[in-house]
Amino acid sequence: MPDLRAFITELEEEGELLRIREKVDTRFEAATIMGLLDNGPAVLMEKVKDNKTPIVAGICGTRDRICRAIGVLREELHARLLYAINNPVYPKIESEGPVKEIIDSPRLSDIPVLTHFQKDGGPYITSAIVAARGLDAKMENVSIHRLQVLDDTHLAIRIVPRHLYKLFQIHKEAGKPLEVAISVGLHPAIMLAAASSAPFGVSEYGVANTLLGGSLMLTTCEDVSLPVPRDAELVLEGRIHPDQDVEEGPFVDATGTYDIVRRQPVVEVTRMMHRDQFIYQALLPGWSEHHLLMGLPREAQIWESVRGAVPYVRGINLTPGGCSWLHAIISLEKQSEGDGKSALIAAFAGHKSLKHAIVVDSDIDPYNLEEVEWAIATRFQADDDLMLIAGARGSSLDPSGDQELELTTKMGIDATRKLSKSKEAFSKATFSEEYERRAKEILERVGSGSSD
Ligand code: MN
Repeated sequence: MPDLRAFITELEEEGELLRIREKVDTRFEAATIMGLLDNGPAVLMEKVKDNKTPIVAGICGTRDRICRAIGVLREELHARLLYAINNPVYPKIESEGPVKEIIDSPRLSDIPVLTHFQKDGGPYITSAIVAARGLDAKMENVSIHRLQVLDDTHLAIRIVPRHLYKLFQIHKEAGKPLEVAISVGLHPAIMLAAASSAPFGVSEYGVANTLLGGSLMLTTCEDVSLPVPRDAELVLEGRIHPDQDVEEGPFVDATGTYDIVRRQPVVEVTRMMHRDQFIYQALLPGWSEHHLLMGLPREAQIWESVRGAVPYVRGINLTPGGCSWLHAIISLEKQSEGDGKSALIAAFAGHKSLKHAIVVDSDIDPYNLEEVEWAIATRFQADDDLMLIAGARGSSLDPSGDQELELTTKMGIDATRKLSKSKEAFSKATFSEEYERRAKEILERVGSGSSD
């Protein structure tokens, strides 16, 4: 069963889940605990102040946890994700499901939504996927959006100009409200699929179903004509009216800095369904889980794009220091002199928010930042190997860029060795195999302390 509960059980069995039995506060305290556990285990906060619903967080908090959930090795993740994006299979829809155990009128204050940081505009739902359809009710989109709780029945929704934005614009022009089905408490594959950039018109439910080997099941909603994952913990149904907007924010985004406050649309929530004794899933914005969910699908896209420009790509790393969003390291096998620059152009084309990209040869591990710096130090000349593109489309999240017009300067660093010069000139000296073996034997004897 591809649900959150089964995955929580699996994490607990593997020693990857921390249970907190002390009462925690949804204002700042829970988020602070999540921050201190960053890159560590997932956490289940069993008792919540003034609320009877437990909170789970950090479910997709490490690269290895996401790989475990999907059942792939680290190096297979990008290929598996691309396969799912290119081969979506729409899941079956059933009339009943666990998420329909309790069907109620909405009271958002019943949900333990977290307020994360001191200057936040309010409590925010950060782990929700939002499903919506086109005017013909055929085209469907599922994407992750932050939702600011305004009162018991209203949420401000941040809609970045991508697929949901397009659907909302189409409805707006027709003067019609956009129906949305918001699901929380999901298996990581569903989160990752919703974070992926499948082409417009492809339902991310289909991508998730392929990622899960065909085991995803959906169920119908009560108030809106949209399906939701049958095994979700919580579903909110509602409408975005074309003529209503509010100031959304302040909110900490992927860069770990405050995003600017903008006027954004409002979801009027009309129905709430949940499992009996549901678990609320939280996600700390600006920290690892946020980075990974945003970054992993982009790594896959960059990989596909660069693979079209050069024959062999060893790996792509959207680095944590670059918020898993703004900085890419691409390791590849260079065959002609221009391959490094072609790869940089392809990387920028593959991920529009990418700001700085570094290309290294395939002997450099893209996940080892010290090796990457060594390559820059020994294989890069700025007058020849540096590429600057001013006034390009960038991320709205980068406070150093033009956040209104979303403009930035892109920088590409080609730290691949020159093919005209001998390879040896750029190779790190190594020890001979024979001496390395003998040296290891000597060290083993010292380490073991044996006298013979
Ligand atoms: Mn989409």
